[in-house]
Amino acid sequence: ASALLASITKASRDEPDSGISAAVNHGIGRPGIIPLWSGEGNLPTPEAFCRPAIESLLKGETFYTWQRGIPPLREALARYHSRHYGRAFEAENFFVTGGGMQAIQTILQMIAGEGDEIVLPTPAWPNYAGPMRMMGAKPVEVALDFANGRWHLDLDKLFAAITPKSKAIVLNSPSNPVGWTASLEDLKAVRDECRKRGLWIVGDEVYSRFYYGDKGEPRAPSFLDICDTEERLLLANTFSKNWAMTGWRVGWLQAPKAVGPAIERIIQYNTSGTAAFLQQGCAVALDEGEDFIAAQVVKARANRDLVAAALRAHPQIRFELPRGAFYMFFALDGMTDSLATTYRIIDEAGVGLAPGGTFGPGGEGFLRMCFLRDPAKLGEAMDRFGKWLKTSK
Ligand code: PLP
Repeated sequence: ASALLASITKASRDEPDSGISAAVNHGIGRPGIIPLWSGEGNLPTPEAFCRPAIESLLKGETFYTWQRGIPPLREALARYHSRHYGRAFEAENFFVTGGGMQAIQTILQMIAGEGDEIVLPTPAWPNYAGPMRMMGAKPVEVALDFANGRWHLDLDKLFAAITPKSKAIVLNSPSNPVGWTASLEDLKAVRDECRKRGLWIVGDEVYSRFYYGDKGEPRAPSFLDICDTEERLLLANTFSKNWAMTGWRVGWLQAPKAVGPAIERIIQYNTSGTAAFLQQGCAVALDEGEDFIAAQVVKARANRDLVAAALRAHPQIRFELPRGAFYMFFALDGMTDSLATTYRIIDEAGVGLAPGGTFGPGGEGFLRMCFLRDPAKLGEAMDRFGKWLKTSK
């Protein structure tokens, strides 16, 4: 086995497993486990979005597709954005990918290679730093501060991390795992700095609809509010979260038209396109999914408050109520090894969480819980976890 391992690349051999996968591998299949480790809801995809996919499949739409995505989906993406961002968008700026993950991978592959650096606030989803390292680029991680129960992004610190090797700033807002959400002023500052230094703005706005603003806003502030589509702006997004389609593996990337051929080449050499019948279902989700999204967000907000109330009963727990996304990210006083603690909670309480340490600098000492679940199950998980906190040593 060691000879086999010695003959694969160092990057693929040495990259650590994500702690989320480690938790899942440890706990999956355990009888009675309540899994709150992954970032998805408990509902299957609504029938209204499945039906057009089934019909397309039965109609024989089973051939190779356009690398950039089928025209009806790219047009539906332009319509969706025009509706939500108050100006006209063009289909030519959208590229269909194999989930948000392939959108991220495509972006990174296009803008960074061996020796390049990418500035990334953390705690962040581990699927950013991992692929950067595997392509020989360096994630330059800048931790948000957690002080007096609030997360804060120090923009001076973020910009001080830029060097001549930097290619981009990646900003995930609302953030997985923290729930921190950039204000329009934060976004403008990042935009201005990127413009000044000639960097790409990479935005991950996959949770933008899961936003718990004070005025019932339908989405979080976005780079699309303040940027031009033809500037150095790349946005990753996905059907996974808003429309309960995690298993479909369909997402999109928004980019200036000038880099379209480069994106097409990367997709060509990667998946060679996304199944047409899946894309047909996604197009209908964009056009007809608003009621579903609205109901999901109402449920997420209520669940967030349910979890927050349960956690507040424990003085050893500290957190900020998330403003976006659907995770509670909480510190457990005295915990120094979040992965080991995650294993214990799986074994002893039957609740599956994700270890904070896997989200990079600033994450150790925390645990992440996804709350887009059935409220009764979530309540049971909170009972079990609460009992575990009282009795564990
Ligand atoms: N970006 C963030 C911040 C995420 O949390 C996720 C999923 O968890 C994604 C992107 C990509 O999602 P998917 O690859 O399922 O479309």
